[in-house]
Amino acid sequence: MSIWEQALGVIHSRVTAENFSTYFRPLRCADELSDRIVLEVTDAFFGDWVRDHYQDLIHSAVESITGRPFEIEIVTATSPPPVPKTEASPAETPSRKDEPAVAPVIPITQGAKKKRLGAFDLNPHYRFDTFVVGPSNEMAHAASMAVANDPARAFNPLFIYGGTGLGKTHLLHAVARRIYAERPDAAITYISAEEFTNEVIKSIQRQEMDAFRARFRDQCDVLLMDDVHILAGKERTQEEFFYTFNALHGAQKQIILTCDRTPQEIPRLEARLRSRFQWGLIADIRPPQLETRVAILQAKAERDGIALPDDVAFYLARLVRANVRELEGALVRMCAYASFNRRELSVPFAQDCLRDLVDHREQALTSESIIKLVAEHFDVRESDLKGPRRHRTIAHPRGIAMYLCRKHTQASFPQIGRAFGGKDHTTVMAAYRKVGKACNNTLSARSEIEAIERKLPI
Ligand code: ADP
Ligand code: MG
Repeated sequence: MSIWEQALGVIHSRVTAENFSTYFRPLRCADELSDRIVLEVTDAFFGDWVRDHYQDLIHSAVESITGRPFEIEIVTATSPPPVPKTEASPAETPSRKDEPAVAPVIPITQGAKKKRLGAFDLNPHYRFDTFVVGPSNEMAHAASMAVANDPARAFNPLFIYGGTGLGKTHLLHAVARRIYAERPDAAITYISAEEFTNEVIKSIQRQEMDAFRARFRDQCDVLLMDDVHILAGKERTQEEFFYTFNALHGAQKQIILTCDRTPQEIPRLEARLRSRFQWGLIADIRPPQLETRVAILQAKAERDGIALPDDVAFYLARLVRANVRELEGALVRMCAYASFNRRELSVPFAQDCLRDLVDHREQALTSESIIKLVAEHFDVRESDLKGPRRHRTIAHPRGIAMYLCRKHTQASFPQIGRAFGGKDHTTVMAAYRKVGKACNNTLSARSEIEAIERKLPI
């Protein structure tokens, strides 16, 4: 095993599974010398990022293997990003070598029929200047800025993933707004994967596929698609999206996607789409840390002209941790109560009016709510998780749901068995052990669990 492979093992144990996949998997060891390791990345932005954030970790991991310091060099591969060959090509190994090295500024398709995005289509609050940057979202933010300032040159696609209410849609709108401001003639399409699915269905029914294709392939300069996890299991939509993706990517049009999980974790997604989602840059957004949550509250209070005392901001930020939307919701609610009742904002007042939020949070995590969430995540029915079917597509999520129930609630093994339609407690125990062991042993199992845990209200 090479030094770098061993060092990766050390790094693996020191970072989350997610960070490992995002930042370390893509590093290719180009050369290993007696005192120097050369790592290759396909993108300069990504290389700078890894250097700025993980240099020390990489050095210390290598040193722990070799017993002496090594020089670590991170270089950018000179080849350009992959461009799909033909639509019919089944090849899933895009060649980076045989394409031109310089990408032009986004070409703007001319045409009278182009449906242009108007600034009115965008949420007026979702801008770069209202987005509070912290360690949990700085990569996604920096990548979005890079793409907004130089579409189709930085990386394509940009794939942003993270839990609900963490600012993915906010960033998409911010990118659209920035591109629109610079190039009002660019046709920017912002669409959720759900709307896209509806458009596909509608166009098939009305036999208007030509118009559909023209709209998304020929008359689109930038495609921003929100919540692509919705495409799971929708074969016909996936097929249309595959061709849309190829057409746009091939014409050097920027594509940005958001998702609640990594491409690997989207169930029932065609391999060829999954691989395309990984062509560009994958950036994550994690729940913000306390300081960032406080800064978000203060920024919002300032925008809305609310005098928010620091101790109240900290109280709210400690109370709501996993979701910025809920955090803002708590602030708005508290301010509404305060103005109705003509009260000053203070910690006791906040405690008072957000009591049901606290109670609700305590109740929120039950076996029932976990079963619901896991069923949604894997796109299976709750009744199947509680039923007797043993097919892997059901048994696998069921085992994970049992594991999470045990880990995140006070319920005993027999109680969990009852929540799953009266299963024996030994079944639950076996599932708990199996999933726990898989998490310890394999990265993919750990990252699968982490993706679901990100959505738990904890
Ligand atoms: P997602 O699409 O990830 O579910 P949204 O983009 O809809 O989340 O964000 C939810 C709410 O939280 C929005 O009102 C958004 O403006 C706000 N928000 C999220 N992250 C931030 C941030 N870093 N700074 C300011 N506001 C944020
Ligand atoms: Mg969203």
